Amino acid sequence: MNTMNLDSLRQVDPQMAEIMEQEIRRQKTGLELIPSENFASPAVLAALGSVMTNKYSEGYPHKRYYGGNTFIDMAEDLAIERAKKLFGAEHVNVQPYSGSPANVAVYVALLDFGDTILGMNLAHGGHLTHGHKVSFSGKAYHAVQYGVHPQTHLIDYDELRKLARAEKPKIIVSGATAYPREIDFAAFHEIAQEVGAISMADIAHIAGLIVGGLHQSPFPFTDVVTTTTHKTLRGPRGAIIMCKEQFAKDIDRAVFPGLQGGPHDHVNAAKAVAFHEASQPEFKEYAAQVVKNARALAEELLAHDFKLISGGTDNHLILVDLINKEITGKEAEEALDRANITCNKNMIPFDPRTPFNPSGIRLGTPALTTRGMKEEQMKQVGRFIAEVIDNVNDESVYARVKGKVGELCEAFPLYEDL
Ligand SMILES: *Cc1c(COP(=O)(O)O)cnc(C)c1O
Repeated sequence: MNTMNLDSLRQVDPQMAEIMEQEIRRQKTGLELIPSENFASPAVLAALGSVMTNKYSEGYPHKRYYGGNTFIDMAEDLAIERAKKLFGAEHVNVQPYSGSPANVAVYVALLDFGDTILGMNLAHGGHLTHGHKVSFSGKAYHAVQYGVHPQTHLIDYDELRKLARAEKPKIIVSGATAYPREIDFAAFHEIAQEVGAISMADIAHIAGLIVGGLHQSPFPFTDVVTTTTHKTLRGPRGAIIMCKEQFAKDIDRAVFPGLQGGPHDHVNAAKAVAFHEASQPEFKEYAAQVVKNARALAEELLAHDFKLISGGTDNHLILVDLINKEITGKEAEEALDRANITCNKNMIPFDPRTPFNPSGIRLGTPALTTRGMKEEQMKQVGRFIAEVIDNVNDESVYARVKGKVGELCEAFPLYEDL
C-alpha cells in the first residue's frame, strides 16, 4: 500500500478510504503493545496489495491445476527457498492461510480423529489450536493439556514427562501465545521421543527471535514446526509449515487438497519479501532490541509495583498479574485504550477470573521496536502504564498521558508516506 493506492481507493470508495485513514491515524498516534502485532514494511504491504491476488494456482509449484502460473511458481519457489535457508528447515509449505489452519493441517496430516494431542493449556499461555475444548483441535482429537508450575510459572517439564508417559500422545505440541520465558524445544523433543510421539513446535510468537538468534531454535531436531509470518517475523498475516522430509508428502496433501483451495499468491509473495528482510543483518539487530526493550519495560513495571508472571521476561512479551492493583484485565485494557495505549487483557496461570474478564494484561515490544524505540522509551511507556492503572477513572490523567503518548509517537514516526 502507498499513497497512490490510497488515492485510487478514495476516488472509488470514499467510505472505506475514510475508515482506513482513521485506522492509519490510530496506528500512527497510539502505542501498540499487543505482542502478536507488528508493522509490516512498505515492501511487504506492496506485495500484499498487488496483482498477485488475481491468480488461481491450486496445487504446488510446477504441478498446478491452472495455466499461467510461470511467475507464481517462481514466487512460491522463492518463498520456499528463503524460508528453508532462514530457519534451516528440510521441507517448507508456504500455503497455509494463517496460523490456526496451519496447525489444523498438521493434525489432519499426521493424526487420526480421536488420537491424543498433548498441548499447553490456554490459561497457562497455550493457543486455542493446541487442544482447547472450544477449538477443532479439542473436539476432533483427545486433548490432554500441560501447564506451568504454580510457583515459578515456568513450564513444568517433569509434569510434562509424566503426562506424556501416562497418556501416550501421538503428538506433543510446544509453543505458546502468552509465555514470557524461553521454551526448551530440545526437552520437548526428547520427551516426545521417549514416548514415541511426533514433536511439533508452534513458534508463531517467537519466530523473529529465533531467526535473530535470541531464542533456542526447534531446528533441526523437531519433527514439524509451524509459524505465523506476522507477529515477530513482521511479514504478512499468514503461516508456513516446516517439517522433516519424511512428513513432507502428508503435510502437503493435508494443506492442498485436504483443507485449502487456491493459495493466496499475493500473501505468499509478501511472505517471501518478509523472509528476505528477516535474513538481513538489520533484522538481527531488530530482534535483539525487541528483547532488550521487553526487559526494560518489565524493569520499569516492577519498579511501579506491578507483578509479572514468572517475575519478568526472556522474550518479547510480559504477562502482568493485576490482582494486587485491584483492577481487572478488561478494565486495564479499556483504561489504557483511553490514553491511546493498546494492549490486550489476558488470563494468567491459575486465574481466578474468566477469559472475558481475566486478571491480567499481555504487553509486547515488537511493534514499538519497529518504530525505532529503545530502552529509554520503554521506561517512559512503563511510567505511562503505571500512571493510568494507578489512577483509574481519573479522566485528567487519561488526557495527560494521551498527550505524552502523542508526543512520543511523533518522535518515532510510522509510514511517513501514508
Ligand atoms: C497467533 C498464534 C496462532 C494462530 O495464528 P492465526 O494466524 O491467528 O490463526 C497459532 N499458534 C500460536 C502459538 C499463536 O501465537
